[in-house]
Amino acid sequence: MVWIYPDLLSTYGDRGNLLILARRAAARGIPVETIEVRSDQPLPTTADIYLIGGGEDGPQALGAQRLLADGGLRRAVAQGSVVFGVCAGYQLLGGSFFAKDAKCAGLDLLDLHSDRGPSRAVGELAGTIDPRLGLPPLSGFENHGGRTHLGPEVSPLAKVTTGIGNDGNSEGAWRGKLLGTYSHGPALARNPALADLLLRWAAGVNALPPLDDTWSDRLRAERAAAAVAARQ
Ligand code: GLN
Repeated sequence: MVWIYPDLLSTYGDRGNLLILARRAAARGIPVETIEVRSDQPLPTTADIYLIGGGEDGPQALGAQRLLADGGLRRAVAQGSVVFGVCAGYQLLGGSFFAKDAKCAGLDLLDLHSDRGPSRAVGELAGTIDPRLGLPPLSGFENHGGRTHLGPEVSPLAKVTTGIGNDGNSEGAWRGKLLGTYSHGPALARNPALADLLLRWAAGVNALPPLDDTWSDRLRAERAAAAVAARQ
């Protein structure tokens, strides 16, 4: 499992996603090796899962440039690796995004592009996830200036019930084993079923033994109430 560019894209605590995946895999007896790859290092191309977190505009632009120059993520995707991107890490999987007022090239791994919104989206983010993924509602926290527009080759991850997500209607995107979201929190701590989906994709299995999710269920219930309150 690779955590991409902790030196650039770790501003919003998304490294927690790596910890959750490693913990949920280990709890099922699945051996895991986690690697943090800094932006001056080459990306290994044979990992099962790649994680990219959120970041501010400058580091996001630099991260995209370095990932494009490296080329490893594209090769990994061609070999069937799972990629999970959050916020800046989600935007840079698309064709283009804006950092401050400059349009930047993304990796073009997902058919989407991002531009600037009329306001910064900050607050609870909740939504109903694409039924084909078989997951409970998405729970998260968003903090971004960009808005994301999906092309025909990707599906929205969720329909927004609280917050903005891509554009106030849809949130995130997925195609094959690539998935992006605006949800911090970190996302996989707040959505353990989403963590298990990524693990199932990586392991090529349809189900995993259940875990005791008492604590995350409590967190989700508390955050669901906060999301309802945020709508009023
Ligand atoms: N810089 C991007 C934006 O503001 C992403 C922010 C983030 O990763 N939270 O849209």
